[in-house]
Amino acid sequence: MRTIKNFTAYLLLFSVCSFISSGCSRNNYELSDFNKIKKIDAHVHDNSESNTFSEVASENGFKILSINVDYPDFPNVEFQQNVAKLHLKDYRNVFAYASTFYLNGWDETGWADKIINHLDSTFKDGATAVKFWKNIGMVFRDKSGKYIMIDDEKLDPVFNYLTSKNIPVVVHCGEPRDCWLAVEKMMSNDMKEYFSKHPQYHMYLHPDMPSYLDQINARDRMLAKHPDMKFMGAHIGSLEWSVDEAARFLDKYPNAKVDLAARMDYLQLQSQKDWDKVYHFFCKYKERILYGTDLIIGPKDDTTVFKQVTRDKWLSDWKYLATDLTMSVNSVKGEFKGLALPKEVINKIYYSNAEKLFYSAWK
Ligand SMILES: [Zn+2]
Repeated sequence: MRTIKNFTAYLLLFSVCSFISSGCSRNNYELSDFNKIKKIDAHVHDNSESNTFSEVASENGFKILSINVDYPDFPNVEFQQNVAKLHLKDYRNVFAYASTFYLNGWDETGWADKIINHLDSTFKDGATAVKFWKNIGMVFRDKSGKYIMIDDEKLDPVFNYLTSKNIPVVVHCGEPRDCWLAVEKMMSNDMKEYFSKHPQYHMYLHPDMPSYLDQINARDRMLAKHPDMKFMGAHIGSLEWSVDEAARFLDKYPNAKVDLAARMDYLQLQSQKDWDKVYHFFCKYKERILYGTDLIIGPKDDTTVFKQVTRDKWLSDWKYLATDLTMSVNSVKGEFKGLALPKEVINKIYYSNAEKLFYSAWK
């Protein structure tokens, strides 16, 4: 009897220790706590002159980081910047933004100086960070017709300048790995649907373009050149398909952080197969992961619909990350269980990591 008792105690001790060793303790939030705790969505796109996004954020206990992007489907960068300035006037404690720049004039001498001057003016206008987008690596070509990559030496003066000013940099490099796979081999149902309908963006069909590894390797070479830069890799640093790969990346670049924007389904797919692995990934890298959604409001979007969609997305993610409830989402086949991350982990990924990285924001 005594042996059995001791064995049980040993097992208990072992399980407690394994949680402690991965930096996790079992003490988690409930669904209803969503309304109580303060949260930051560190990756959204607020392209509306209305106050809708800041309002829905306030109503749900969120602050937001709106990221400007030179994306043809968005209003131009000047419009996005004016929208940001407008919201900073009235919602300074809720709204913050990352500015960006055009690649036009790349081949002209003095391009980097011009960009530095432009970015400097955005900091005076209240920008908190700078976004580098996937047009570097996937769209823009220099005058010789070559795709420019994120480790291009022409970008070094810009990265050096941002490092010297301690300005955080948000980099969206490449796409999900699915983009380079045949449709039937893709992980995400959303991607299967999207790339079936948009073959022009499906890199599997364009082998002449830079590969997935070309994108990842260029990003890693850039980080090796700028180890002190404050860096956030958008969309789990485009390593969404494997928490093991994301872990290797975070180990190799100790200054790097990643956001979860628009890739939650990849984590849900992985935890559906191996819950422990994803749980321990979050616990181990709790200082390095920032909550983000990639929610977008356009200039003419319906306010009521947007507020509902936004709250639904925020609640669904909360259910997955904070509780152990069984759930389902459109983009994942079948049910899966929430991660029920400890309060300490939730507090960091939902708030303090973003507050620390984007130190000049929301003030
Ligand atoms: Zn985005």
